[in-house]
Amino acid sequence: MTLRNGKEFLMIPGPTNVPDEVLRAMHRPAVDIYEGPLIETTELCMSGLRKLFRSEGQPYIYAANGHGAWDAALSNTLNGGDKVLVLESGRFALGWGEAGEITGLEMEVLKGDWRLPVNPQAVEDRLRADTDGDIKAVLVVQVDTASGAWNDIAAIRQAMTAAGHDALLMVDTIASLGCMPFEMDEWGVDIALTGSQKGLMTPPGLSFVLAGERAIKAHATADLRTNYMDWTFRNGPEHYEKYCGTPPEHLLFAFRAALELIEAEGLEQVWHRHALLAEATRKAIAVWAEGGVLDMNITDPNGRSDSVTVVRFKGADPAPLRAFTKEVCGVTVGGTIGDLAGQGIRIGHMGHVNAVMVLGTLSAIEMGLAKLDIPHGKGGVQAAIDYLAGAL
Ligand SMILES: *Cc1c(COP(=O)(O)O)cnc(C)c1O
Repeated sequence: MTLRNGKEFLMIPGPTNVPDEVLRAMHRPAVDIYEGPLIETTELCMSGLRKLFRSEGQPYIYAANGHGAWDAALSNTLNGGDKVLVLESGRFALGWGEAGEITGLEMEVLKGDWRLPVNPQAVEDRLRADTDGDIKAVLVVQVDTASGAWNDIAAIRQAMTAAGHDALLMVDTIASLGCMPFEMDEWGVDIALTGSQKGLMTPPGLSFVLAGERAIKAHATADLRTNYMDWTFRNGPEHYEKYCGTPPEHLLFAFRAALELIEAEGLEQVWHRHALLAEATRKAIAVWAEGGVLDMNITDPNGRSDSVTVVRFKGADPAPLRAFTKEVCGVTVGGTIGDLAGQGIRIGHMGHVNAVMVLGTLSAIEMGLAKLDIPHGKGGVQAAIDYLAGAL
């Protein structure tokens, strides 16, 4: 017996639910790449990116996923053999550093913990010890999608300043932009990047890099530049140069529609919605945790993401629960990856999500816990409802 007919929810940490307005924006013929609506769309996407990143810097748009944006950030600003310091708080900053190694960089990992965000004091200490200035860039994710950690980027920049170090600060906001506050210029971030398919509610296939002043300066002498990623060519006067060839037209129309949705709601309200829905999720998990099996992966309450929640399981297999929510209820919840593979679930609550989707997801999980006899405290969903009712 299943109850899955009806609207299905994709509650994984990317790709995410795509709004109907965004889907409809793509349902049109291809257009001329030299004049007409595409030119205006590019302008709106560029100015929309500045607003999202809160930066006066230079945006670049790639027909690529997040991995492409990683390459673009590194290859445009660094030289072969340069050392990058990767701040570990899960899987994704490491992946970025590994991409750097293939590109020709040396990677040093500032060891972290999969249950905690990056410790800014450890960053300061490591940079203070780098008296020769070997480290040219610090790579960090604002939210690590594997661990559910949220890193305090402003504090990390303060740690770099306190150490008197002039490495570039590069931030991956793929799982946080359009979900949680990000202030590129105010915080002193030199390069920030993101992808289309998570908080930004657009199908996968676009990624974005915002280059600040110091990054643009570093570009002038970078020797790892590649043809497709290269900022110099993309700064050229012709429209097609911004894309190094034919623009990904339909994804741009989609992204424009997503930007309009964010603009209509208001970016700060978007952040607030994510904060409330994330806290409701955590309230439910705190109740379920009373059964001794489920637990929040991130132990520091101040280091938890509002876009994805990672739940650990002790003494029970999470796979049947995920199968239950999907096959019986029509809700896809994420599995854990990397060091946590097979040990828990990841609940994505980012982008196009409302109270019904989050409460429905939590209900499907709680129903599954009961059906599968996984020990848990009863009333997690009620706790989420009570929290939201009180917070509105
Ligand atoms: C999803 C994700 C990536 C990878 O993005 P792709 O589009 O799959 O290449 C990188 N970093 C973070 C923080 C992510 O959440």
